[in-house]
Amino acid sequence: MTDSSLQEAFKALAAVYAKVDAETPRRDCRRCGECCHFDTFGHRLFATYLEALYLVAVSGKPPGKFDDDSCPYQRGALCTARSGRVLGCRTFFCEKAGGVASGLHERALAEVRRISTEHAIRPDYAPLARLIEEIVPREIPLPWSPA
Ligand code: SF4
Ligand code: SF4
Repeated sequence: MTDSSLQEAFKALAAVYAKVDAETPRRDCRRCGECCHFDTFGHRLFATYLEALYLVAVSGKPPGKFDDDSCPYQRGALCTARSGRVLGCRTFFCEKAGGVASGLHERALAEVRRISTEHAIRPDYAPLARLIEEIVPREIPLPWSPA
């Protein structure tokens, strides 16, 4: 995978995210940030390898360590990685807020997988914390902006 192929993949992924954001059904999210505490909340955030690269390229190296119960991009209740956040962050909502946008998630994930294949990017779909742990010490992508 060359840098230019990765940039093409990022462009395609940005278009998928923009569509997901536009098509997300109305939800009643209070932005309390509790669902970003994975263990406490009882779920695990998965992502594709391409999305993990994109998160680091757009939002920068995580300012701390991901673990099973916290995301280093969270400050207080707020997400500091809104533009780079992965599909799971965009489509997950707690039951009180209206629930996961699962159909939208599945369709978008299929599209992200297609983009990864097209650009010969590793097909891994794994806990985001594990992917970031792997990427950060050895494969920091060039900074990228979706604008
Ligand atoms: S989806 Fe629910 S838990 Fe997550 S930030 Fe919104 S209100 Fe809080
Ligand atoms: S990237 Fe943002 S939305 Fe996703 S888990 Fe981290 S703080 Fe939460």
